[in-house]
Amino acid sequence: HTASPYYREVITILKTTFKLSTFRTNQLECIVATLDGKDVFYLAPTGGGKSLCFQLPALCVTGKTQGTTFVISPLISLIEDQVSALRSKGVNAWCLTSAAEENEVREVMRMMRSSVGEKPKLVYTTPERLQKSDYLKDVVNQLYEEKQLARFVVDEAHVIGSWGRDFRASYAELKVLRKTWPNVPIMALTGSANKDAIEDIKRNLAMQNPVCLAQSFNRPNLHYEVRKKPSLKKALVQAIAGFIKSQHSADTGIIYCLSRAESEEMAQKLREDFGLEARHYHAGINNEERKNNQDDWMAGRCKIIVATVAFGMGVDKPDVRFVIHAALSKDMDGYYQETGRAGRDGQPSDCILFYTWNDATKLEKMIRNPNNNDPSRGAPDETEIDRQISKLQAVVAYCSNESDCRRVLLLRHFDEEFKPENCHKQCDNCCRPGALVQRDFTAEAQQVIRLLEEMIAVNNRGVTQGQVKDTWKGKNGKNVQQYKGVSLYAAGKALDHATVDRILNNLVAEKMISLYRVVSSSGFSNNYVQVGSAAQDYLDGQKRFVVAWKEMD
Ligand code: ADP
Ligand code: ZN
Repeated sequence: HTASPYYREVITILKTTFKLSTFRTNQLECIVATLDGKDVFYLAPTGGGKSLCFQLPALCVTGKTQGTTFVISPLISLIEDQVSALRSKGVNAWCLTSAAEENEVREVMRMMRSSVGEKPKLVYTTPERLQKSDYLKDVVNQLYEEKQLARFVVDEAHVIGSWGRDFRASYAELKVLRKTWPNVPIMALTGSANKDAIEDIKRNLAMQNPVCLAQSFNRPNLHYEVRKKPSLKKALVQAIAGFIKSQHSADTGIIYCLSRAESEEMAQKLREDFGLEARHYHAGINNEERKNNQDDWMAGRCKIIVATVAFGMGVDKPDVRFVIHAALSKDMDGYYQETGRAGRDGQPSDCILFYTWNDATKLEKMIRNPNNNDPSRGAPDETEIDRQISKLQAVVAYCSNESDCRRVLLLRHFDEEFKPENCHKQCDNCCRPGALVQRDFTAEAQQVIRLLEEMIAVNNRGVTQGQVKDTWKGKNGKNVQQYKGVSLYAAGKALDHATVDRILNNLVAEKMISLYRVVSSSGFSNNYVQVGSAAQDYLDGQKRFVVAWKEMD
């Protein structure tokens, strides 16, 4: 890439405008590809330096496409931070969000329309704004006609595939970019997406043979741990406070809770009963309080923020020493993102999740009732609910796994193979001294395969792993309604959840069950299960199905 025609200009801008001397992994490759007019998909863990990948080429004049770079980003606060940082570097950057002042909007529109003077190098907007504002679309049209539209950038592109509380209808509509303004290069960036999610994003943006740049998602300085969550609230707060006081008494950290009420209560208890300076943060508190709490935490005036998942996207605090999950995340992407906010400076940091099956049930209820019993919002989409439940089950499987290296499990989710010896005992399972337990589950495995065959006979449009689990356990939910008549319904009733998960996950790992993907009409994919290639050997009794794990203390 040093031989590329853009290299000289790129290096000059890196040094003079950004005051940096070298590129991190894939940054130069990404910049060169977009300057070459190609679509680019850039995947890097949080803190990896994604913004430079589009901010720098926006300032280049040697690229194949010229003019303004349009950045579509989900959060106004994130946009404002980036724009003010760019302006302090002397870059002609603007935000066109609903929060922008009217005169500001007029000014940037004037600059873009004017044939004299410098056009803005970077214009940030939210997908909602782009969708709603015809005026903005007119301006983009004009730039397009004048060939002054350098590229579209979709930041935090994983939002495209998000559903539930994170769902953003306008993100799903971003296919208009390619449709309305063909030939304008698109760059999509994200800090978390597995292979399926990447395919969803590429398809939904109609990206053309994108250059895909991905790097290892391993975060070597993070220590991962899952602890049993005490059933009493008081005991949980005590466990959390005890951990902070003994390991991180002077450190900055984040505690994630499931609900707004829980985050308030937890912060209050930590303050009043343990003398820890903790504040709460969630989408339900007023803007001023939210901003104050975040600012105080960013500035180090308060050390601990107790939050719902509303907190953290775009938060760039390098010295977060611990991230505690008081409850499990709703999917592995979320868990990775949330824990990823620890240790951005590369120093050792702790990620602890407190797990109980009860929380999984609570989350499942939330997923099954996305509209909060509000009939005006229509019936929930069952396919999407299934999709969401499968994602939750992956987190449950992660939490209830007591033997495999956390890194192996976490990175497997991103389709990355990781050797457990490279963890260097930086996770609870690698450190666990507990004796290895082995059990022969051949009979159970045969039962699951026969059950799956029965279920597929009832519904050949796709059976999910979650449905197999719930049918086997004999649950009463809507998702298993159609399978109640099969002969093996509830055959696994006597097994506990951890055992059921362990068996099902090992069946997938051993290829007795295989996963396949189907893309729905909405453009998103769903995973289904079928009988795998290895099943026959076990059904014939040629092979025994033995599962090993370490017992949680
Ligand atoms: P992301 O969006 O991937 O989470 P950012 O773009 O916010 O990450 O960058 C994270 C930090 O890394 C920022 O402080 C940024 O200045 C720094 N950074 C990015 N690229 C480089 C580089 N090539 N050299 C040194 N620091 C960098
Ligand atoms: Zn490990």
